[in-house]
Amino acid sequence: RKARKQLLIDMHEEAKQWFQRNLSVAAGDHCRRYLTDRGMTGEMIEKFALGYSPEDWHGLDNFLKSRGRSPEQGVEAGLLSKNERGDIYDRFRGRLIFPIQNLSGRVIAFGGRVITDGEPKYLNSSDTPIYKKGDHLYGLNLARSTMTRTKRAILTEGYMDVISLHQFGYTDSCGVLGTALTPDQVKRLAGFVSRVDLIFDGDGAGRKAAMKSSRMILLQGVACRVVLMPEGEDVDSLLQSKGVDGLEACMNEAPDGLTFCMNTLRAEYAPRDIMTWAKSFLSDLSDASLRAYYLPRLATGLGLSEADFRRDAGAMTPQRNTQQQPR
Ligand code: ATP
Ligand code: MN
Ligand code: MN
Ligand code: MN
Repeated sequence: RKARKQLLIDMHEEAKQWFQRNLSVAAGDHCRRYLTDRGMTGEMIEKFALGYSPEDWHGLDNFLKSRGRSPEQGVEAGLLSKNERGDIYDRFRGRLIFPIQNLSGRVIAFGGRVITDGEPKYLNSSDTPIYKKGDHLYGLNLARSTMTRTKRAILTEGYMDVISLHQFGYTDSCGVLGTALTPDQVKRLAGFVSRVDLIFDGDGAGRKAAMKSSRMILLQGVACRVVLMPEGEDVDSLLQSKGVDGLEACMNEAPDGLTFCMNTLRAEYAPRDIMTWAKSFLSDLSDASLRAYYLPRLATGLGLSEADFRRDAGAMTPQRNTQQQPR
């Protein structure tokens, strides 16, 4: 089992080097130009080990064969795909390649972006014995040492967002890669930092993700701030157009997680729903000192006195507990 995993990791390392080589040769010209046009430096291309998968159905397939790997092993590694007829072919074709590394810096999966138009815009490795979506944070291995020093993590949405943040000096940045933040990912960050700054896209999806993510982070006793990008922007586009000053301006205005949640609720929901949210937040806080910390803050957010809120919230919580108690 261990040997099997090691084999998959070895194949990813080989594939990473092959993708990198393809970015540096003539076939990768337009991919390199694409990166330059987006403002990415050579230093970042190196740091994040970016690569290119040529427009070829059997490029990586043949390369892996030359290294003594069978096509079936390539499929198991999630690097090759197999259709219903049993044909095996390259999963990533004509894409900019982002290696996804674990905390020790081992490549365990890849993401690939189309360079011209095409669907889907991003394609990821499938889940394998060494990679489960939602278990990892993109760039965490590179951000870890800064995080440990600053005790702050920046958490953002996408590959390009993470890389631009690092390029502009925010080396404590990592990414969720478009999926919903999981409690395991938060626990991982909580091992390094006491605060998370969420930087999400200024669109509906970004606002929704910011609500859910900040709630989850706060529940685990980690402080957070929510930095929403202006409508239509993400942190990559903002940094590329407005630089560090542009981002700092957004960060200075960023509310803490609880304020963000209450503001969003107030803007979009009826007062009753806000009360429901506040109660469920309170009852999901397992830690007594956290409850004591948030209770007055929730009350203020609801425009209630602490006593009134305590009575309202209290009327609900014990009732639920009683029902759960065996008789
Ligand atoms: P770009 O700037 O290159 O256009 P983006 O990162 O701004 O990309 P978004 O649409 O904002 O793209 O998505 C954020 C992240 O969500 C992506 O970086 C990627 O990790 C993930 N993602 C988006 N679309 C897909 C998809 N179709 N399949 C898998 N992951 C995706
Ligand atoms: Mn988006
Ligand atoms: Mn973007
Ligand atoms: Mn985006």
